[in-house]
Amino acid sequence: MRLPNWKTPILSSNRVLAALGLSIGLLTLIAHFAEFGWTQTGGPFSAQEFLEPIKFLSSDQLKGRGDGTKELDRAGNYIADHFRKFGLKPGGDNGKYLQHFDLVVGAKLGRKNLAVYRQGEHSEKLNLQETFVPLSFSASASIEAPLVFAGYGITAPEYHYDDYQGLDVSGRIAIVLRHEPQENDEHSLFAGRQLTSHSEIANKATNAKNHGAKAIVLVNDLGNHSGEPDALLRLDEVSGPREMTIPVIQVTADTVNSWLKPSGHTVEELRQAIDKDLSNHSMALDGSSRLALTVQIERIHRKAANVIAELPGSEPSIADQYIVVGAHYDHLGLGEHDSLAPRQRGQIHHGADDNASGTSGVLELADALAHSKERPRHSVVFICFAGEELGLLGSAHYANHATFPLQRTIAMVNMDMIGRVSNNRVYIGGTGTSPDFQKLVEDANSSVKLAVSYSASGYGASDQTSFTVHEVPVLFFFSGLHSDYHKPSDTWDKIDAVNGARVVELVGNVVHGLDALNDKPQFVRVSEPVAPVMGGGGGYGPYFGSIPDFGQVEHGGVKFSDVRDGSPAGKAGFKAGDVLVEFDGKTIDNLYDFTYALRAHKPGDKVTVTVLRGNERVTREVTLEVRK
Ligand SMILES: [Zn+2]
Ligand SMILES: [Zn+2]
Repeated sequence: MRLPNWKTPILSSNRVLAALGLSIGLLTLIAHFAEFGWTQTGGPFSAQEFLEPIKFLSSDQLKGRGDGTKELDRAGNYIADHFRKFGLKPGGDNGKYLQHFDLVVGAKLGRKNLAVYRQGEHSEKLNLQETFVPLSFSASASIEAPLVFAGYGITAPEYHYDDYQGLDVSGRIAIVLRHEPQENDEHSLFAGRQLTSHSEIANKATNAKNHGAKAIVLVNDLGNHSGEPDALLRLDEVSGPREMTIPVIQVTADTVNSWLKPSGHTVEELRQAIDKDLSNHSMALDGSSRLALTVQIERIHRKAANVIAELPGSEPSIADQYIVVGAHYDHLGLGEHDSLAPRQRGQIHHGADDNASGTSGVLELADALAHSKERPRHSVVFICFAGEELGLLGSAHYANHATFPLQRTIAMVNMDMIGRVSNNRVYIGGTGTSPDFQKLVEDANSSVKLAVSYSASGYGASDQTSFTVHEVPVLFFFSGLHSDYHKPSDTWDKIDAVNGARVVELVGNVVHGLDALNDKPQFVRVSEPVAPVMGGGGGYGPYFGSIPDFGQVEHGGVKFSDVRDGSPAGKAGFKAGDVLVEFDGKTIDNLYDFTYALRAHKPGDKVTVTVLRGNERVTREVTLEVRK
């Protein structure tokens, strides 16, 4: 089986997963669980020693190891102390184990955020948070420019559609509708009722900038969402790149209508005209009208550190070639972002499996290799990364500031969540990134005898992606998702240390296999990253608001591990523990059924939903909403 991209790469991946509530990758994963008989084998790594660092790293005193916290620093020092004790050479900055980097942990409005509309002598100030709001990834800038209406702000050559055709946007501010044309039409060129990536705000901002716009103003396509209020997005509601190069704000439809008045048009009338036949209704606004805009977003910066150590190679001719063994050691802290238990925000998200387990794997291997009679011929570089949960930031920093040159890094081996082996199964990604890797892993596993699911791609949910993009062959080890993923309940007592130690043994054998190679393994590019899903939704249908229990493998319905407050499912009175069995008259057996049923609907649809609560059948009407 192909290891699914269970977190979207590069972007703050977990945010995406959390926002969606479920992902196709997870469905694939769960669907492929299989029963395997297995026996516990006494390998070279002890379960006890594997568990020790996990207990400490996931303890309450480390408060979930959030990025930018002093508790994460403490975890980093703990790792560095171990590297020192093993006699490994520091591999970070200035002869230290730590490699510091700057990370953005959030954004807030600065002091000065101002928008003033001028038309001739007349000027009118917009009210922050009431009639306009900047988005978190907006550039900070002060500009004044004429306005143009640019339809949905989409250039889609594949559909022969271009809102910018014949429009001079250069040096102007583009007003664009949110989402995309014919959103509710199942025959729409734009993937029927599903939103395409053209609807994503970051893509619209990029497209506007590419056409020379000085800023982009978003306005709700209210006519496509009847019954919904003209709500402004929250500052941080839409995740996106850290910072766009132009200001990005949203303005209420009433405000834009007042700007359009001299032209005799309204937002809704223009939207209808476009949606009718996908014709172009872009135009410059009245020549004397301008918008003066000042946006000031303060990004909240913190420091974090990768922890790096080197075991120099024993064979002089290849000691300047490196094998990187890595794992991230950060987690979600108190779960302010990306928690899959939204009601438990503020509680410690322990992160025992994610990824104290992989961190322990690095420490175990560092210890074993440093003390082995036969030292590896290549130099081995051990790296514990920070910033992974915010979007692979630590590994990306390392890849761009490698203390051991990537050109001479023959492979990168990554462990992320290796402590919850189920049915003797381990998922190994990246086997397609070099021609002999699958064979190498099979040989390494011949004594360990785990059941392996292979995936060729070097892209995925974790830090190996940062090396794949630099054309370093990678291998990624993962023991599978479970119901405690990204929740406070990911605790050490649930770790299967016996089998975790077996995964470490397998990784150790793989490192030996890599070390035995005489030629640098050739890099093969296998597949491109999955397109990031951002604001506006990504084709997952309307918003329901349940969080399926990802650990559930039985059939007979979809169990909710939680239901989001204020979501359609929440408003209908559904709650954690309910098992979804019927959706709009269709029997729901598993997550596939649920996803399919949900996608067939659009926001605003009323559907009848039945769950099992204990022995009782509970049926409610739910009004689906737009996914934000
Ligand atoms: Zn992880
Ligand atoms: Zn995670």
